[in-house]
Amino acid sequence: TGGFDVAAIRRDFPILSRQVNGKPLVYLDNGASAQKPQAVLDAMDRYYQQQHSNVHRGAHSLGDAATVAFEGARETVRRFLNAASTREIIWTRGTTEAINLVANGLTGKLSAGDEILVSHMEHHANIVPWQMLAERTGATLKVIAITPEGELDQDSLKQQLSERTRVLAFTHVSNALGTINPVAELVARARAIGAITVVDGAQAVPHLQPDVQALGCDFYAFSSHKVFGPTGIGVLYGREQLLEELPPYQYGGEMIERVSFEKTTWNALPYKFEAGTPAIAEAVGLGAAIDYLNGIDRAALEASESALIQRAHELADSVPGMRIIGTARNKAAVMSFLIDGLHPSDIGTLLDQQGIAIRTGHHCAMPLMDFYGVPGTARASFAFYNTLEEVEQLFTALQKIQRLFV
Ligand code: PMP
Repeated sequence: TGGFDVAAIRRDFPILSRQVNGKPLVYLDNGASAQKPQAVLDAMDRYYQQQHSNVHRGAHSLGDAATVAFEGARETVRRFLNAASTREIIWTRGTTEAINLVANGLTGKLSAGDEILVSHMEHHANIVPWQMLAERTGATLKVIAITPEGELDQDSLKQQLSERTRVLAFTHVSNALGTINPVAELVARARAIGAITVVDGAQAVPHLQPDVQALGCDFYAFSSHKVFGPTGIGVLYGREQLLEELPPYQYGGEMIERVSFEKTTWNALPYKFEAGTPAIAEAVGLGAAIDYLNGIDRAALEASESALIQRAHELADSVPGMRIIGTARNKAAVMSFLIDGLHPSDIGTLLDQQGIAIRTGHHCAMPLMDFYGVPGTARASFAFYNTLEEVEQLFTALQKIQRLFV
């Protein structure tokens, strides 16, 4: 599959060689969380064994070593996203916290008559914070409709995006459908009417390499654990000027410049948004994950993933009653599906018995499930370490399940 050695890549991920329920693990739940290469585990181990201390405080060498490792990881993320400055790279707990940080910060800036626009395919993390912002401010939450294929409906977009739109928040890649949205185009339209753009990059970063300056967005959020790094850390990219205008999200140590009982002033970016001791080892781990990704031929990675999803779509016809939800022209390696006569959760359980891990349910996208009139789907989500053989194993298992249980 493509121009790189998948077998060698798989050896970099220790968990991929384990067995589950007596069968070799076929891990197709990467959309929920991706596995970690040895390089990430080693970097975190090395950090704790050799460099750990608190950051930005040390009157001692370990404090300096920890700070260098931590800030080095921030620079690695900056380069990965092509942000202009590390002042624009804020560590968060993940995509969820990153979006909440922005939505919270906009509280004083919106009022009745303003509109916040999201799409119908959003994850709850990119719906609920906006819904609550609307509730706090009197603004109205509006929704861009989608087509049955799972693409943004252009007529609806035209209708909903207006002078009243203050925020346009949408996902780069849909976690439930795989749809890749045309970010640069959407951002350009929003900017033309002066709206702030917030892009949920959680499902994009494992597949694509976003260039925030080329995309032109004001904010871009992602989670480390979906991009082969550890859990517990994520990133908010924000345009410097907007971050300057946004109030802090949490208050305490690290985020202050000067504290007195009468008045407190804020630290400079990015620290203004990083109250308390941060996830230091996790930042180091995320940096190592990006370094690892940087060592892989991007074009080959993308070609390999395209081959996986294309093969999966071809094989869908081989399972009677199978229906794919999400058939956008531009689509990442994510396949949501249903099989007539089988509940998605039963599909998940029966596949697990064969060592195949997928996700079932509403995928934190209940409005999207409502649009398709289903309570949930089964979802296989692929990473660059998956193989065509694994796609075939998935379908062999699905054919068997369909034969035995329908
Ligand atoms: N947005 C999308 C599109 C996602 O897939 C996810 C994770 N399922 C999130 C946001 C939330 O990410 P996290 O749970 O890491 O904060």
